[in-house]
Amino acid sequence: MTNSSLPEIAHYIDGEIVSGSSDRTQDVFNPATGGVEKQVRLAAAADVEAAVASARAAWPEWSKMPPLRRARILDRFKFIIQERADQLAEAISSEHGKTHDDALGEVTRGLEVVEFAVGAPHLLKGEYTESVGTGVDSFSTRQSLGVVAGITPFNFPCMVPMWMFPVALACGNTFILKPSERDPSASLLMAEWLSEAGVPKGVFNVVQGDKLAVDTLLEHPDVKAISFVGSTPIAKYIHTTGTANGKRVQALGGAKNHMIIMPDADLDMAANALMGAAFGSAGERCMAISVAVPVTDAVADALVEKLVPKIEALKIGPAADRSSEMGPLVTRQHLDKVRGYIDSGEAAGAKLVVDGRSFKQDRQGYENGYYVGGSLFDHVTPDMEIYRDEIFGPVLSMVRRESYQDAVDLIHSHSYANGTAVFTRDGDVARAFAQDIEVGMVGINVPIPVPMAFHSFGGWKDSLFGDHHMHGMEGIRFYTRLKTTTTRWPSGQRENPQFVMPTLG
Ligand code: NAD
Repeated sequence: MTNSSLPEIAHYIDGEIVSGSSDRTQDVFNPATGGVEKQVRLAAAADVEAAVASARAAWPEWSKMPPLRRARILDRFKFIIQERADQLAEAISSEHGKTHDDALGEVTRGLEVVEFAVGAPHLLKGEYTESVGTGVDSFSTRQSLGVVAGITPFNFPCMVPMWMFPVALACGNTFILKPSERDPSASLLMAEWLSEAGVPKGVFNVVQGDKLAVDTLLEHPDVKAISFVGSTPIAKYIHTTGTANGKRVQALGGAKNHMIIMPDADLDMAANALMGAAFGSAGERCMAISVAVPVTDAVADALVEKLVPKIEALKIGPAADRSSEMGPLVTRQHLDKVRGYIDSGEAAGAKLVVDGRSFKQDRQGYENGYYVGGSLFDHVTPDMEIYRDEIFGPVLSMVRRESYQDAVDLIHSHSYANGTAVFTRDGDVARAFAQDIEVGMVGINVPIPVPMAFHSFGGWKDSLFGDHHMHGMEGIRFYTRLKTTTTRWPSGQRENPQFVMPTLG
């Protein structure tokens, strides 16, 4: 229920911020302090229906607007965000907890998709063949789907929505965003700035909410496609329910990303890469490296020696301190879950080399924030819960292997297949890895191989359900459907009725 003394984060429907018809709300915390600072509205079905109706009404005009005009509006949006990146980053950090620079990085990676989408007119050009038959020409065009929806996770409240809506809008669809209820403010800033850039009312809507809002979108006949990013159980549910309701669905799930370190690798480079990839954003990234796989015990021992002082020296603090390298976790519940995994790894017999549970934040005002230190487990085995599950926290597990092939087999035995990396100087190994590894995004001496906006983002196996990855050409294909038109201008030719299949003859 509403606590009227706190600021409210509401919906954005039909070009306006509205509280909607439900009085259900949820507290929004500042993870750095542990305090409740805002409340977010949780939509009723009627609120989702109002957003869909608005988006449905806006679609005919938006879809027929010349693509270059849509692109120019997105271009203005890009400049607005660039000018106000600090404001957006501050909103993200205050609800997610990530450091200011990390939040700015997220904004930049999101903006790259806007830049890509501004070039969409070129990608929507279609194909034309003159004379597929005598006096007969044929052309194919990519047309928008209609109303499409995006359901997004807490860990990138700006970038993940931007994987979706710039491409969807550039292709002529209208959009409904259902952001995470844990850090909803970024969605409203983006909605207002899109409007300021010239996006007409109804073209971009935001409904805040939980399962009720998601289910209403999944079942609504006017929603033609769903893009989802979040945990694997929910991704599976979204894919099954959305496709059963006749929708196009791309549902990206969780991850457990491995990095192989070969004996010939530059170990200082590998150790630094592991630090950023495992502990950046407190490990709350779907492309975080959570498993280091050193090949041979000698490499493992050397890596542990290099990593321990670095992990112990991590600067852990609030985003307000611009020198912080790692912020708090997103919620108290998630903090308890991550600490529980550290307990579980210890109980299962893994060697806890650095114990993040011992970290205490004693800066005044931040004592109740959701902080945990970086942890390193050595001698982790594949049967352990800390290896099998996605922890989504600053916990790095080391699984020692004796050969390259053993390391590859380990990766292949895991159910997730989002990202992976190998650190080596051996071209043969690098090429074999790139070609053979069964994972969607691969890095060679690159720990977090997040594709640029003009390529596409997505994993394999339990990390993605559906046929399309996000943004790049895959995004254009996902948000459009192909139409092929065949034309004849007979200039006086007449034909008798034909009852056989027409052929060129
Ligand atoms: P989550 O699955 O809990 O929530 C994602 C979205 O689904 C939210 O909008 C939430 O409101 C909604 N949701 C939650 N429970 C639901 C239910 N029962 N029915 C319908 N909708 C529901 O994920 P999260 O905790 O916000 O985000 C972290 C997860 O996202 C991690 O597993 C991470 O790996 C994953 N992720 C994946 C990628 C990727 O590209 N593969 C990127 C970012 C995050």
